Amino acid sequence: MLLDQTGRVFYRALSILKGMDRVLVTGGAGFIGSHLCIRLLSEGYRVYCWDNLDTGSMDNLTSILSSPHFEFARHDIVQPRDFAVDRIYNLACPASPLHYQRDAVKTIMTSTVGVMNMLELAERYGARLLQASTSEVYGDPHVHPQREDYWGHVNPIGPRSCYDESKRLAESLLMAHQRQRGASVRIARIFNTYGPHMHPNDGRVVSNLIVQALKKEDLTIYGSGCQTRSFCYVSDMVDGLVRLMASDLRGPVNLGHPVETTVRELADMINDLAGGHSRIVYHSLPTDDPYRRNPDITLARERLGWEPLVPLREGLRYTMEYFRSIIGH
Ligand code: NAD
Ligand code: UDP
Repeated sequence: MLLDQTGRVFYRALSILKGMDRVLVTGGAGFIGSHLCIRLLSEGYRVYCWDNLDTGSMDNLTSILSSPHFEFARHDIVQPRDFAVDRIYNLACPASPLHYQRDAVKTIMTSTVGVMNMLELAERYGARLLQASTSEVYGDPHVHPQREDYWGHVNPIGPRSCYDESKRLAESLLMAHQRQRGASVRIARIFNTYGPHMHPNDGRVVSNLIVQALKKEDLTIYGSGCQTRSFCYVSDMVDGLVRLMASDLRGPVNLGHPVETTVRELADMINDLAGGHSRIVYHSLPTDDPYRRNPDITLARERLGWEPLVPLREGLRYTMEYFRSIIGH
């Protein structure tokens, strides 16, 4: 115990002397994580990225791999690992329904045991931990738009529950740790985010529709297309995460675009941007697919001075350029 405390004090003194915060980004080879690593490096942090590469890719890190201030380790957060850090952004977890349902048990382990491991690291080194939570904690909401004080409407045993319920438990773990042991935690409830570095085959609506539109294939809409989401461009999301980490707001706080869009409107916009060559076809709606989803971001606006700046059409254009470069259409 005493040794532990001495080690911690020594580590803090060393890091202050070196004048450079050590930041760990788990899931840093994924879509949002890779943009976060790039942003943190540009701000002068020393960035350590842990990723098991289940859904992430080293290609997302090519622009920073040679930086002397960046280090990548292939590591699964379900396994404990000791490492001295000042800040932890815990993004490790598959995010698309296709990916997180592929190995549902592993998804649960990642957002429970994995989160515990991150909390223990945070406690050992007095580090602040930001958890990437999700709008899925609201399930198929009965309150609209969703505010942070809404408790949600989640099916605890359905196919999405491995993700929804383990993310809810992760929030609970963070809060319990903070109350009981004084951990410094931040909880971001991330709503649908899109942009470059999305996986082209992750089955999410933005990536599916853009890839289909570029290939002049049919655009697949599940259900009637009247269901809604709000789509936040990735640079805005990363900015929200960085602001939350730096703030004294513990959260949970909603981070997402406050403009609600139907899936049909999204499909029309994407088709139009790609030249209008595709037809729309309708498939059945997946089980428990939420009908309406839109964040109330008053808290983020007031406490973080944050709101998304990139309009949907503009963000879709950037994303389309990215997909064009990787799929060659
Ligand atoms: P992503 O799948 O692109 O990235 C997740 C990364 O975590 C991948 O690189 C993957 O290999 C890695 N990973 C998964 N399990 C791991 C484990 N056990 N140990 C180490 N690494 C592991 O997803 P994303 O869209 O970048 O999402 C990042 C985070 O944001 C996730 O926690 C997700 O739940 C959350 N989130 C994302 C969205 C969104 O719209 N993209 C919405 C809500 C919440
Ligand atoms: N969706 C769709 N066509 C697709 C992929 C998804 O209509 O090719 C729908 C999906 O059923 C959901 C919405 O788009 O209603 C958003 O799906 P996504 O998987 O991107 O995110 P999530 O459901 O997790 O919010």
